[in-house]
Amino acid sequence: MANIVVLYCKKIQDHSCVACAKCFKGMDERSGEFARYEGEDLHLVGLTDCGDCPGLAVPRLKLLGEVARMLDRPIEAVHLGTCVKTAMETGGCPLDFDELRFLVEQKFGYRVVLGTHPY
Ligand code: SF4
Ligand code: SF4
Repeated sequence: MANIVVLYCKKIQDHSCVACAKCFKGMDERSGEFARYEGEDLHLVGLTDCGDCPGLAVPRLKLLGEVARMLDRPIEAVHLGTCVKTAMETGGCPLDFDELRFLVEQKFGYRVVLGTHPY
């Protein structure tokens, strides 16, 4: 079983990627970066934005972690949406994946994955 959260790019979600429908499909099909959960129960604990530019993902994850613990659904892994990956690769996103992964693993102990659906 895996409890995950997905962070989306606040500038992209519902603009060029509508209603997070692609990620929901990817989760159901275990495709893209969700393939790692094949044969496992996958629980989406939360789906929320990155905290907006200039990359406020860490305080966002702190808050999300508190809510998840309160609801007895502790977070195991954080996926940065394919939208975030696109923003990093093509949109001048200020988030640095390696730095963010290091900080999040150190501070909260969550695995951090770059990407979600493959569509
Ligand atoms: S990539 Fe996923 S998380 Fe990001 S906006 Fe699209 S469906 Fe939502
Ligand atoms: S460009 Fe990066 S920091 Fe800005 S909203 Fe998108 S994911 Fe968040």
